Amino acid sequence: MSDSDGLKRALSRALMAGLQIDAKAMEALRGLGPADAESAIEAMISEAKASGDFVIRFEAVQRILSSKGGEGPRAGGAPTGKAALPHPARDYEADIRILRGSGAVQPQGSGPEEFSSLFRSRFEALSKILRRRMDAKDATGIAEALEARKGDPVKFIAMVYEKVERERGLVISVEDPEASAAVLVPKDRRELFDLSMAIPLDQVVCISGKRGAGDLFIADEILLPDVPDRRVEPPGLPLNAVLLSDLHVGSRTFMDGPFRRFLAWLRGDLGGGDLRAIARAVKYLIIAGDLVDGVGVYPDHERDLAIPDLYKQYEKAAELLQGVPDYVELIIIPGNHDPVRQAIPQPPIPRDYAEPLLEARAVISLGNPAELLIHGLSFLAYHGRSLDDLMASAPGPEGRKPEAGMELLLKCRHLSPQYGGKTPTAPIRNDLLVIEDPPDVFQAGHVHVFGFRSYRGTKLVNCGAWQSQTDYQRRMGLEPTPCIAPILSFADFNLQRIDFSSEALELI
Ligand code: ZN
Ligand code: FE
Repeated sequence: MSDSDGLKRALSRALMAGLQIDAKAMEALRGLGPADAESAIEAMISEAKASGDFVIRFEAVQRILSSKGGEGPRAGGAPTGKAALPHPARDYEADIRILRGSGAVQPQGSGPEEFSSLFRSRFEALSKILRRRMDAKDATGIAEALEARKGDPVKFIAMVYEKVERERGLVISVEDPEASAAVLVPKDRRELFDLSMAIPLDQVVCISGKRGAGDLFIADEILLPDVPDRRVEPPGLPLNAVLLSDLHVGSRTFMDGPFRRFLAWLRGDLGGGDLRAIARAVKYLIIAGDLVDGVGVYPDHERDLAIPDLYKQYEKAAELLQGVPDYVELIIIPGNHDPVRQAIPQPPIPRDYAEPLLEARAVISLGNPAELLIHGLSFLAYHGRSLDDLMASAPGPEGRKPEAGMELLLKCRHLSPQYGGKTPTAPIRNDLLVIEDPPDVFQAGHVHVFGFRSYRGTKLVNCGAWQSQTDYQRRMGLEPTPCIAPILSFADFNLQRIDFSSEALELI
């Protein structure tokens, strides 16, 4: 009798008994020898009769086999008699260069001197990026533009410091290190008006238009530094990176089940053949902050905590992440729920807290933001707190998509353009939040809504979350989209998504 005959016989017996077998359980049964499959099914038939549940699930197969003293179905392992499946993540060496985020950046005081030095550095860095554009190369400063006669064309670089909507249009107050002026964006210039409404305060822009009366200019075009359009060459390796964020371990709403499902998939224990092949190529796992839910992050936070102790939250995170196969490189950065200085750039999670995790496995623990070169692809990992400010002031529903917020950050070439708001910025003399080089992959989280798009060659990914809706989010009307794992391919630079929210893993 062949293996498949034995399995068929066992299955038909189960079907005769009125049982249904879900896809994963079926796969697990297929991986067993005929005798094991038969006796497992036999046991499940009597179990089903006793419980009244006539669906055989993967977990039941596992449980029954382990109670028999076997090891349980080792899905992903090669079925006996067949050649081992390719496992590139195990076979390929990691190739990571940390470009930034490895050390702590110390604030240098918080006096007016640091503040003005920070702004001067931002102005210079963004002006330089703007002047690389063909259409902004010949821009002047405000003082020179003010010398033009009424009606003459002008083009200058300036920082936005106030926007006021008037009947005629939007009046933008601008300044540079020498002078200040006002710019009118007429309401009838719809497209320009909408763009101006979306430009964050403190952003450096290039304005072209006409000299008006007094210290006024009439805008004709406003340019953000933006990124040049380019084509990213994928490294062509059969490897993947999984991009996650916002686990919120320790919260009552942390989605433990789906996250364990994700880990089981990563280890090759879950999913159909295609999904397992994707898992066997996962060489990198980058988590962009909010590993734990923290304590005292907002008023009455303790009510929402299943684990009220920060150290214990990291112990639980360590216990979970220990389930990440050892050949996967794990890279973490902090978010606003992790116990680190809130002002960005944030240093890495202090060893004191991260200890259980660092002891459980190898971890590359970096600050927020961090920049990495992986097989030649540049990754910018940023938790994304400033997206709150950007998305709150976005004029339309489009702007409230996290990927639209990320696109705007890229256009601004700055991770937190608007000073203040909800995003504390460390007073550091050189503005380290300027995006000097456009990344190939820009990863963020914080918003708890999954979203992605390509913008001028860069892949923008907001990783969603592994936490279901909190009371706070319910009050704010925020509907999170948790448990989606985006997977970036080093073969073709495409982004696949697996939804882990239900037992039937879904490639979306
Ligand atoms: Zn979060
Ligand atoms: Fe966050």
